[in-house]
Amino acid sequence: DMNSYKKSLSLFKRAAKVIPCGIYGHFSPAHLIISTAYPFYTARAKGAHFWDVDGNEFIDYMCAYGPMVLGYCHEKVEAAARAEYARGSCVTGASPLMVELAEYMTELVSGMKWAFFAKNGGDATNYAAMIARAATGRKKIVLINGGYHGVQPWMQSPAHAGVMKEDHSNYIRIGWNDFDAFKRVVSEHPGEIAGFMATPYHHPVFHDSELPADGYWKQVESLCRKEGIVLIIDDVRCGFRVDMAGSHNYFGFQPDLVCFCKAIANGHPISALMGTDAMKKTVAEVFQTGSYWFSSAPMAAALACLKELKRINAPGKMRATGEKLTSGLADAASSHGYHMAVSGMPSMPYVRITDDESQTLHQEWCAECTLMGAYFAAHHNWFISCAHTDKDIKKTLDIADKAFKIIKKRAGR
Ligand code: PMP
Repeated sequence: DMNSYKKSLSLFKRAAKVIPCGIYGHFSPAHLIISTAYPFYTARAKGAHFWDVDGNEFIDYMCAYGPMVLGYCHEKVEAAARAEYARGSCVTGASPLMVELAEYMTELVSGMKWAFFAKNGGDATNYAAMIARAATGRKKIVLINGGYHGVQPWMQSPAHAGVMKEDHSNYIRIGWNDFDAFKRVVSEHPGEIAGFMATPYHHPVFHDSELPADGYWKQVESLCRKEGIVLIIDDVRCGFRVDMAGSHNYFGFQPDLVCFCKAIANGHPISALMGTDAMKKTVAEVFQTGSYWFSSAPMAAALACLKELKRINAPGKMRATGEKLTSGLADAASSHGYHMAVSGMPSMPYVRITDDESQTLHQEWCAECTLMGAYFAAHHNWFISCAHTDKDIKKTLDIADKAFKIIKKRAGR
């Protein structure tokens, strides 16, 4: 039976009166292209599943857009957070857990000798840009076209409301995998480039993901070293879904600063900036803090989450699950005469039906899958978790097959 979203819609109507645009940001229905196919409000979640306020159940392939990695309400992580909340989490004075977490993460992540904790991914990326400037005494940061780092004015499109052209005056955007463009920018701005910030691989919205070309990161790294440019990796989305030692370890290079968030604590609010010894003195001089940044319960959750991810070799497990899902979907597509392009890492696949340039077919197929209980966004990479089981994948492939039949019939093929 197809889902109905009566309660979601009525809550959304109430929300529109008291919350600007009802639901903002990445959860906004405005981003769900066929929004009538998606629930807006969630009642509860467990493992790889969630239930909406109308009682519909979904196998979740968005994982809260990344934070869920071990499964919702994971007992080890929740027990660690609960115990810390019972002891007092947001208190005057830092927690010893903060030291323990920094020690654990510096052991875990390749080449990173210190950790600094905040709340959101954008806290870490914004701080990284400040540190690059403080360390070099230079102004400009090089970024990648289509790269997302958060919601500070400099991270948003200059076309967005509230963003001024001046907010972008010290940022230069170049194409992904285009080392020559980086070289050109460096020679056109001698002694002005403070930092180069990019994700470990390119995962923009509405487009296929692109892995680094052979040698790309080594070339970027050596030019940064030669020119004294701070190399910043935004591992907010990929971190711990690709490699427990950081995605730079997987792709074989050494950044100066690395930003983590999403998968760090299975949904508990914490992000981290990590860096090399050479950066440590500068970091100590750049002021940054927040009301909740010392809360210890999310730190306890992060320790429990990272230890569990490591224990079960989470990146390997999610990779295998993602490969099973995407190869099954590609087979289902071809059995119905369609082609499905799969890109990015299998733990964060970007999937797209290529038979229709406008992407309408792909959007309709994602909508039909969601209406039958496999939650797929059409414009964004999906996320695999350690909680997705073979049974979930099998059920998802059945749903996918039915959805192909529906869109095929509708298109009169
Ligand atoms: N960088 C990347 C690569 C991201 O995916 C995100 C969040 N989608 C951010 C930064 C910003 O993180 P936050 O929304 O937690 O500030």
